[in-house]
Amino acid sequence: MPTDRITMAHGAGGAVMGSLIKDRILKHLGGTADDKRIELALEELDDSAVVDGIVLSTDSYVVKPIFFPGGDIGSLAVAGTINDLSAVGAEPLALSCGLIVEEGFPLEDFDRLIASSGRTGREAGVPIVTGDLKVMEKGALDQVVVNTSGIGKRSPYLDSNIEEVRRYREFDSEWIRDSNVRVGDVIIVSGFLGDHGITVLSFREGYGFESKLQSDVAPLNKMIGGALEEGGIVAMKDPTRGGFSNTLNEWAEKSNVGIALRETDIPIREEVHSACEMLGFDPLDIGNEGKIVVAVVKEKADAVLEALRSFEEGKDAAIVGEATSDIRGVVLETLVGGKRIIDMPVGDPIPRIC
Ligand code: MG
Repeated sequence: MPTDRITMAHGAGGAVMGSLIKDRILKHLGGTADDKRIELALEELDDSAVVDGIVLSTDSYVVKPIFFPGGDIGSLAVAGTINDLSAVGAEPLALSCGLIVEEGFPLEDFDRLIASSGRTGREAGVPIVTGDLKVMEKGALDQVVVNTSGIGKRSPYLDSNIEEVRRYREFDSEWIRDSNVRVGDVIIVSGFLGDHGITVLSFREGYGFESKLQSDVAPLNKMIGGALEEGGIVAMKDPTRGGFSNTLNEWAEKSNVGIALRETDIPIREEVHSACEMLGFDPLDIGNEGKIVVAVVKEKADAVLEALRSFEEGKDAAIVGEATSDIRGVVLETLVGGKRIIDMPVGDPIPRIC
């Protein structure tokens, strides 16, 4: 592939996409830090931006196939943006939905995906209030592309959450962000990792693992609200493209801490392990659509874990590691007591799962 063209790696969420964003996008769109209205700027590359108290996020969805066990492109598009808004400490208020549909797309499928979007929004209490529809000629794209954007406002629990953090340590941020992790903070994951990516891939390729698996796609705003109400949370991220590895490497880099994980404590289903072994993937690199990774001051770790577990989406939540100054980057203590470095994924092992 010539180096002067966009490649699949540019959209894969790994290092190649990272340099595209830094060298070609932030170069022109960044530098807004002087604008006092912008509380969380583009260059922070967090899950959402904050402008004058309004939280804003956007995401486009190209998952293939558009219907898969446990969800579809409609539920995915709604849940994904709700989760990105929630991850910075916002209460999501409303979404927009932009659809680009290919000529010839079955109306039955159209109805099904719109109904699914509506259902997911209602379940989360976040309505879709504006939208756009474009049709392109046959061959111009693959079936359908869905974009959702969303607005939110400061969660009613964010101030008390931060007060709780400040009972135990200094905290200089007004929002939940990737750069807030400090040595001693505890890392929690809200449930089994890898289900979404493996389900979509397996269903697409006919591997059969999806007979016992389904996507975890779900809006997490209520569970995240419950965790913030408990208090002590400093960082949160939904480990979508690039998976858990990507989330923790972003935290380690932006917060300038090491992160030590224990393999025995990380919840991964047997089917996901088997599939990854067969396909040569690391389950920690696989995208999730209904999970949140939380960094919390250690004094509140057990209480936040219980708060997450009190919700259906978080019933398998687990404490999996902590931030440390003993190492750099992200290091996993393996089942047999060895150590393995968890790198930022270079590219997405499974394209088009979101
Ligand atoms: Mg996200």
